[in-house]
Amino acid sequence: MRFSQIPGHTLLKSQLCEAVRRSHVSHAQLFYGTEGSMQLAMAMAFATFINCENKSETDSCGQCASCRKMDKLAHPDFHFVFPIVKTKKIKTDDSASGSADAYMAAWRDFIQNTVYGSLAQWHEQIGAEKNQQAIIPADEARKIVQKISLKAYEGNYKIMLIWLPELMNVTSANAILKILEEPPAKTIFLLVSNDAPRLLPTIISRTVSLHIPNIGQEALTEFLQNQYQIPAQRAAELADLSGGNMLEAITLHNNTDEDLFENFSGWMRYCFKTDVINLVKLADQFEQMDRSNQKLLIDYGLGMYRNILLYKNAGESLIKLEAKELDFVRKFSKTIMDTKIEAITEQLSHTYYLLERNAKPKILFLDLSLQLTRYFIR
Ligand SMILES: [Zn+2]
Repeated sequence: MRFSQIPGHTLLKSQLCEAVRRSHVSHAQLFYGTEGSMQLAMAMAFATFINCENKSETDSCGQCASCRKMDKLAHPDFHFVFPIVKTKKIKTDDSASGSADAYMAAWRDFIQNTVYGSLAQWHEQIGAEKNQQAIIPADEARKIVQKISLKAYEGNYKIMLIWLPELMNVTSANAILKILEEPPAKTIFLLVSNDAPRLLPTIISRTVSLHIPNIGQEALTEFLQNQYQIPAQRAAELADLSGGNMLEAITLHNNTDEDLFENFSGWMRYCFKTDVINLVKLADQFEQMDRSNQKLLIDYGLGMYRNILLYKNAGESLIKLEAKELDFVRKFSKTIMDTKIEAITEQLSHTYYLLERNAKPKILFLDLSLQLTRYFIR
């Protein structure tokens, strides 16, 4: 991972490079942000830059022996710790959680494909069951201490990256604390957290904290456009809906309009029929979607109601929709009075607003559904 592969964050990147050039790199740094942001990518690019043999002012070279090994996650002085849980998919020895080495191949796959990946995606990668929760067990923390006390093979620095230190138990955290207090020479710890408030204050106080915010709209738009060859307007929409969160933007991109139409049209049919049993089921189903997809569904609904209003007032000429969407608009517009569309739009917008403020989705969707049942002509 190189800095140039991460969109935006220009100032932050130059600060990190500057610290290396001035030899002001702290021995323990915490990269934190919300899940789906680029804190892991940033820590990886930083580690690559530190050990690059031919770095420029602003980035690692990507060509030298160190960069090539870093790229394959096979640098002997670059170590990882990440949460694990014993699963059928990963063959390990018989210890409580198995040895993290057995998870290394899965880890390489994970960060090479989705460096902004979530804990849920990591669980999926290692084949964890629904009720399983990966943690950083004490064994792993002890191994960190052992590995770190060995001499560096070839790099300038030994670097230990701990992904999701918030998932250490107390024993693990205490082992790490000791080594953070008295770190061996030329050793750097990079802690990468998705949930920094859960970290022990004693850990936070021993690190230099770096907040990695979501990517700026412009940089994310440009990245999405280039990465997925999508039109600028769509890319800007995804960047906006996701609030600059990389994981959310990509999830939204992968969520096809097909799903949206099916979800929305099915939902409206149940509202029309006041089918409360199915509306409750749907609210459950919508709750399972991640928040950006919930917002996308509402946003899609707002668009469809705009089209219904257009259709009622000006006919089909101004509407740009796919055939089945148009068919839905034609039929559905007969069930709603013009005067009710404003109220419906307000209800949808209000739900969107509350979703952004982390209200409970199941209650929101069910409440919205019950409100909507009042607006139809039957
Ligand atoms: Zn290099």
